[in-house]
Amino acid sequence: MEREYLNLIGGKWGPATGGATSPDRNPARRDEVVAVFPSAGKEDAIRAAEAAAQAFPGWARTPMPKRGEILLKAAALLEQRLDVVAEALTREEGKTLGESKGEVARGVSLLRYYAGEALQPTGEVYGSASPSTFLFAERVPLGPVALITPWNFPVAIPTWKVAPALAFGNTVVLKPAELTPLTAWHLADVLDKAGLPPGVLNLVVGRGSQVGPALVESSHIKAISFTGSNAVGSKLAAQCAERGIKFQLEMGGKNPVVVLGDADLDKAVEVTIAGAMLSTGQKCTATSRVIVQRDVLDGFRQRLAARASSLKVGDGMKADTYMGPLVSADAEKTVLDYIEVGKHEGARVLTGGSKLQGGEYDQGYFVAPTVFDGVRPDMRIAQEEIFGPVVAVMEARDFDQAVALANDTRFGLSASVVTRDLGLALRFIREIDAGIVHVNSQTAGAEPQVPFGGFKGSSSGTREQGKAAREFFTQIKTVYLDPP
Ligand code: ADP
Repeated sequence: MEREYLNLIGGKWGPATGGATSPDRNPARRDEVVAVFPSAGKEDAIRAAEAAAQAFPGWARTPMPKRGEILLKAAALLEQRLDVVAEALTREEGKTLGESKGEVARGVSLLRYYAGEALQPTGEVYGSASPSTFLFAERVPLGPVALITPWNFPVAIPTWKVAPALAFGNTVVLKPAELTPLTAWHLADVLDKAGLPPGVLNLVVGRGSQVGPALVESSHIKAISFTGSNAVGSKLAAQCAERGIKFQLEMGGKNPVVVLGDADLDKAVEVTIAGAMLSTGQKCTATSRVIVQRDVLDGFRQRLAARASSLKVGDGMKADTYMGPLVSADAEKTVLDYIEVGKHEGARVLTGGSKLQGGEYDQGYFVAPTVFDGVRPDMRIAQEEIFGPVVAVMEARDFDQAVALANDTRFGLSASVVTRDLGLALRFIREIDAGIVHVNSQTAGAEPQVPFGGFKGSSSGTREQGKAAREFFTQIKTVYLDPP
């Protein structure tokens, strides 16, 4: 029997109200149930928001260094179980074990980083116009916050929301993606064992359509931080605006690599493959377009197709796997549908273009690494997020056209340029509409100490991670203190 896990509400682990459960399945072997989780509903969400509200005054008064110590302890506990959590991640999400280990290590770094942030200044002192006034502005917490997270980075994203929320004195209801609850459970468990008081962090695993709206509607919840689809994000934004609460959204991308005429083509291929195919293309920062200057297009497309077709696809637990399965049957269907759309639009499949079949492939959601050539900017595969191992090659006459094509989408999360020309790299940095810019490296990747987020339709504008997280998870109280 698979182990049955529980929700954490008000410091107590328990089942969903009514006892409903849902299996957590392995996308590489769909018959394998990794664990069983509660399928929480509205009532559980309401209870969790109440628990977070009850715990808030005490947590807000807890000295920041003490909050930091708990995060540090949680980091140590997560590090101790790195291999266990990485294996859980690969088994429930599908990415390779190497990628999973990297992600859990990133979770550890994020906890440590925000433990350090808890020792940083919490405000500024100003010179007052009045000689007797001590004038300062202090950062204070928002209150109970709801964090709604996706399945593609099920350790890193919950951690980069939970750790700053807690460090700055907020209490939390975490609603992880229902496809990947086991990794979020580990995060909640290490924080619980590290000594968080009851109700400071609540974990509610359940359907987004049930738990999400109940959290947004709860008068206890003072802010929502969400990562996921544009469809859900924009609905949440409208609901939050109506309630007058703060919100932060990280959503889609259509991230380009621009390969200029002077680029080292081997480097360009390496950057494109890593960005497009690692995590099976299921990153919001994944490369989905590669815009290539005409002079080098022939050489580049040949090398790219050869490299893509040589990638080893399989169960992420196997040491030689480069690319695992897609996360679910729905994800596989969406990606295969987009591949058909691309073919109908007249793009040419250079390699891949179909589901992988036979042997272990029949047990999971495996799609071949796919490269489309001859993609025009008006095609849907050049405009819409596919979230799979599919990359569209587009031709550009020169630098200016390449940047115009790169900017021609409603998204603006990350972008990369491959060039040896420092002047062109600097122009690219200036002219590209993206929140994250890479020069000679892949579009994916995010270090904990710097802001993360996008321009245009990719994000609501407030950044996550680094010091930027403080902007979202605190509000400012300006104090004029005069002698009695
Ligand atoms: P994806 O599954 O493509 O990552 P979603 O936006 O569907 O993107 O899911 C991201 C997170 O949002 C998940 O935790 C999901 O359960 C949650 N979610 C889904 N629907 C809603 C909703 N109506 N309100 C709030 N959260 C939701």
